[in-house]
Amino acid sequence: MSSRRNYLRLGGQLLGAVTLGGAAFRLFSPPSEEADFVAQARRFAWQIDPEKCTSCGLCETSCVRKPSAVKALNDPKKCSNCVVCYGHITETHIDSDKIESEGHRVCPVNAVTRINFSGGTDGMFLYAQDPKLCIACGQCTRRCNHHGTRSMFLAIRPDLCLGCNECAIAVACPHDAIERIPREPVDDYRGDYWFDSNYMMGESA
Ligand code: SF4
Ligand code: SF4
Ligand code: SF4
Repeated sequence: MSSRRNYLRLGGQLLGAVTLGGAAFRLFSPPSEEADFVAQARRFAWQIDPEKCTSCGLCETSCVRKPSAVKALNDPKKCSNCVVCYGHITETHIDSDKIESEGHRVCPVNAVTRINFSGGTDGMFLYAQDPKLCIACGQCTRRCNHHGTRSMFLAIRPDLCLGCNECAIAVACPHDAIERIPREPVDDYRGDYWFDSNYMMGESA
């Protein structure tokens, strides 16, 4: 009985020594490649440069997430709040009160919303994309960039992005528009929108 106790005690002491040794090794040894990678991933994130993006459509199909981690946004500081929005419907000559019922939607999943915030059929309108519906096809952003004030753009949503070591969209992008940027606000699309997810998106998609 006593030799069994001694044996168990010795086993416990050995285990403790190994555990302590491992902890000490982790504390005092240089960071592993894996730890380096995790630290890097926390400091940097993939994002889209709106000056380079042409809304080619590959953000919808190339992301490893389905639906894509990319979502469309509308910058209210740049939007003209038009009665007729190029990113919302395809008709340019249509009565304001017929837009909701008769306007042909640009978005294939009807994710672009139109809200009148000034009263009257020809007042000011607020346009936004519903992230729960948006599939990142880029049709609204392309039309706004071609015909409007370029207020609509595509962004990688940080809470949906898996932070792949090599972003599949960056590989596919024909315009080199995806880059890894520091996780800190540096300008409006990477700051106000990217980091303020309440403003940017409402609830999680
Ligand atoms: S793949 Fe590049 S150009 Fe195409 S929509 Fe995405 S970021 Fe824009
Ligand atoms: S990017 Fe495509 S799916 Fe998303 S809101 Fe615009 S038109 Fe709709
Ligand atoms: S890093 Fe991965 S999850 Fe994030 S946008 Fe690129 S492909 Fe999609």
